Amino acid sequence: MNKFELLGLNEALLQAINDMGFETPSEVQEKAIPILLQEDTDMVALAQTGTGKTAAFGFPLIQKIDANNRKTQGLILSPTRELCLQITNELKNYSKYSKGLNTVAIYGGASITEQAAQIKKGAQIIVATPGRMQDMVNRRLVDISAIEYCILDEADEMLNMGFYEDITEILSHTPKEKSTWLFSATMPKEVATIAKKFMRTPVEITVGTKNMGTSSVSHEYFVVNARDRYAALKRLADANPDIFSVIFCRTKRDTQKVAEQLIEDGYNAAAIHGDLSQNQRDLVMKSFRARQIQMLVATDVAARGIDVDDITHVINYQLPDEIETYTHRSGRTGRAGKSGVSMVIVSKSEARKIRGIEKIIGQSFERKEIPDGREICEVQLFHLANEISKTEINHEIDRYLPSINELFEGLTKEELLKKFFSVEFTRFFNYYNNAQDLNAKASNEVYEDEGDSTRFFINVGAKDDFDWMSLKDFLKATLDLGRDDVNRVEVKDSFSFFNVDSSKAEEVIRIFQDFKHNGRHINVEITKKSAGKERSGGGRKGGGGYKGKDKGGRSFDKSSKGTDKGRRRSSDSPASGKRRSSDAGSGGRQGKKSGGRSSSIESSIKRRRSKK
Ligand code: ADP
Ligand code: MG
Repeated sequence: MNKFELLGLNEALLQAINDMGFETPSEVQEKAIPILLQEDTDMVALAQTGTGKTAAFGFPLIQKIDANNRKTQGLILSPTRELCLQITNELKNYSKYSKGLNTVAIYGGASITEQAAQIKKGAQIIVATPGRMQDMVNRRLVDISAIEYCILDEADEMLNMGFYEDITEILSHTPKEKSTWLFSATMPKEVATIAKKFMRTPVEITVGTKNMGTSSVSHEYFVVNARDRYAALKRLADANPDIFSVIFCRTKRDTQKVAEQLIEDGYNAAAIHGDLSQNQRDLVMKSFRARQIQMLVATDVAARGIDVDDITHVINYQLPDEIETYTHRSGRTGRAGKSGVSMVIVSKSEARKIRGIEKIIGQSFERKEIPDGREICEVQLFHLANEISKTEINHEIDRYLPSINELFEGLTKEELLKKFFSVEFTRFFNYYNNAQDLNAKASNEVYEDEGDSTRFFINVGAKDDFDWMSLKDFLKATLDLGRDDVNRVEVKDSFSFFNVDSSKAEEVIRIFQDFKHNGRHINVEITKKSAGKERSGGGRKGGGGYKGKDKGGRSFDKSSKGTDKGRRRSSDSPASGKRRSSDAGSGGRQGKKSGGRSSSIESSIKRRRSKK
């Protein structure tokens, strides 16, 4: 007897299973199907992605539904449009011999009237994304008042994406007497909460190890004066050249404003909020997925449903009104096993709220400093150096080489390198030269004065398999220092920063002179003095902050535009970004109006990479 038959599945399903070529049930199917077929029970099933969860609920659902009754009896909620369509497809395959059974998909970004018409024809099973479902429930385009089975698929993802309210709202329109089956890859607190709230003594099934959900997101906050918020945002972006981020604002208006400012300053940014048409939103999301947009500025509502992996940073430009919303925001990063950073920019008076958020997320925040100009110049310089060292040589260049050679005849390699890097470095240097310290001291915060501490640069980083903890250990061991003597360790790709008490600075330099690690020469340099002392000593206070300066010096203004524009493909609207990348093959450089040659190098590197 076929193993699926042993589970109690009927002939119509067995035939379909045979057609699909499934031979043996997967573990979650073996465990879930008999129970769901025999009992009317709630269930929580935890199993990793790809373990066959769709069939685990799909087979029993199809068998239990009365195909002669045209009423909607089963509702499946799933986090994204893609999954929604995938599940619908699978269910249609499973039920191809189950006469009269009809499954309809409901999801955003497609005609709602069309979907309503399909439902009207009779859909015993609806597969839906929460946002569109709620919309249709509110408009009375669907009737779920008599459903018998409700399935929450990928519950962890749905909650991650901020669909908690929608789910609650949708479920409130369903009868109390029904079976709820929850399927999830992980069991974070939020999923446990929802199970408790909506289910009655569910049968629990676990396949593999129970995964509590990864806390691969680290949380950081920055305290600035309210008027420096935007400048701080730019610095955070500049200090992270590979940033691929969602930036949250509180209102549609702020979202639009910040995005416009970023675009004007030459960043690849765009806004997404409720005032955009569905079509516009789709376009923005398409460019974001294609990495043509590095900074997506969003409202909380519009960001629900953003299912993009690899987001490196979530930036809370403003804290949400309800601090509970923070979880939904930070959940946009650190997905699919990757790590991510959630940053919060707060004013002094808002800094208190951080403690409240820590309680909610059960994780602590690290207070960080908005990087200063020097640090950004260094990051950008080494980023460029890194990119260049990784770049494959394009031999089309060979034929131009004689004339280029002629131009640089007589320069040593060192002089040439200096010149080459100055092109980019000088832009940043001019922009950030004399840039003001944007960090405000938070009064009530746990923020120990660092005393007189010195910040160092070291030419090892993530590339050398260091993370901040291992680098700290390495430094402590090498420098023979105590537990708290090395701090503010920050590891970048090919280099890092750390702080040591200034009294030990000379010692640090001495130890690292002619020091080798894994056969590589280690270079350690002082970057700047840290802590309040040096900064408050500066006479820049009168400048009236960032804005004042921006207005004050015209040359600054100009160079700022030049800097940013050249560097980041100015005003890349999704459309122009597309055009440009397709231009790239046929002399796309000429298409560049501003920015000049040097910038083309870096942006063409970026372009190349973004296409990967
Ligand atoms: P999950 O929802 O757990 O991520 P899916 O239900 O999407 O996993 O299933 C993953 C893939 O495995 C699908 O292509 C599905 O058709 C296939 N599959 C499911 N069950 C079986 C089985 N018993 N034998 C062979 N393939 C299966
Ligand atoms: Mg699935």
